[in-house]
Amino acid sequence: MRGDHSAMPFSIPSRRAALGIFGASMVAGLTACTAAEGAENSTPVLAPTDTAEPTASATPTPTPSPTATKRIRRSFIPDFQLPPIVGGLAPVITKIPTKHPVVFLTIDDGNIKTPESVRLMAEYDYPASLFLTRDTIADNPAFFNAFKTQGSLVENHTVTHNINMVRQWGYQQQVNDMVGMQEYALQHYGRRPTLFRPPGGAYSNVMRQAVADAGMKAIITWEAKANAGKMDYQVGNSLRPGDIVLMHFRAEFAADLAAFRAAQLAAGLEVVLLEDFLGVV
Ligand SMILES: [Zn+2]
Repeated sequence: MRGDHSAMPFSIPSRRAALGIFGASMVAGLTACTAAEGAENSTPVLAPTDTAEPTASATPTPTPSPTATKRIRRSFIPDFQLPPIVGGLAPVITKIPTKHPVVFLTIDDGNIKTPESVRLMAEYDYPASLFLTRDTIADNPAFFNAFKTQGSLVENHTVTHNINMVRQWGYQQQVNDMVGMQEYALQHYGRRPTLFRPPGGAYSNVMRQAVADAGMKAIITWEAKANAGKMDYQVGNSLRPGDIVLMHFRAEFAADLAAFRAAQLAAGLEVVLLEDFLGVV
C-alpha cells in the first residue's frame, strides 16, 4: 500500500469507540505540554530548538543494513483522538500516548533537496509529515512531490521561518505568515495543511489561537530527533511507542535517516503517518 496512506486499516466505528479513553489521553498529552510551558500560559515556551545540540548521553548509532529487517506491517486502531480546539486554542501535541508500536517521522524546513533523500525514503517506505517553509522550498517546490507520491504529506512550517515569531509578532502577523504557507501548500501540493510546527519549537497561547484561526488542527512538537547522524532524546535513550521524531532536509539527511532507522528497528516500531493516526489527512 505504498503511496496510499488512505488504505491504512483504520476502523471509524472503533475509532469512535476509542473516544472513551480520549479524556485520559488528552490530559496526559496536555500535561506534558503544560509542564513545559510553565506557570504563565502566555509565556513563550523555550521548546527544543532546531539547532544541533549533541548531548552527553547520546551515542553514535550504527548504520543499519536496509534489508536487515522488513518493515513491520500491522493493522491497528488508533487509541488516541486529537483533542479539539478549546477556547479558540489549537492543542499542542508532543508525543502520542498510544500502546501501539508506532513512531511518527517528521521532516522540516526543506533547504537541502537531494535525489538521495527521495531514494532513501522510498527504499525504506517511510511516510512522513513534511513541515516545509515556503521561503526554503520556493526554489524548487516540485521536488517534494516525490515524497507526496510515497505517502507523505506537506504541513505548515510558516513562510519565513522566524524562530522569534512568538516574541516578535502579534496575533495577526502570525496568522498572516501561517495563512501564506497554507495557500502556498494548497497551490503546489493540492491540500491545505492541518498541522503546524513552530520554527524553533517555541509556542504560546497567541500562537495556538493563530494556528486554529489559520485553519489548522494542532501544533506538533517532538521529544526525539535525528540530528548530526545520531538520535537525540529528551526522554530516555531509545524510541518509545508514539514518539514524534524531528528530522530536517539537511546535508546530513542520509546519516540522520540511518540513525532514525536503526532506532526504529531496535525499538520494533512501525513508521506511521501522523495525519493518519490523528485522522487529519
Ligand atoms: Zn525549522
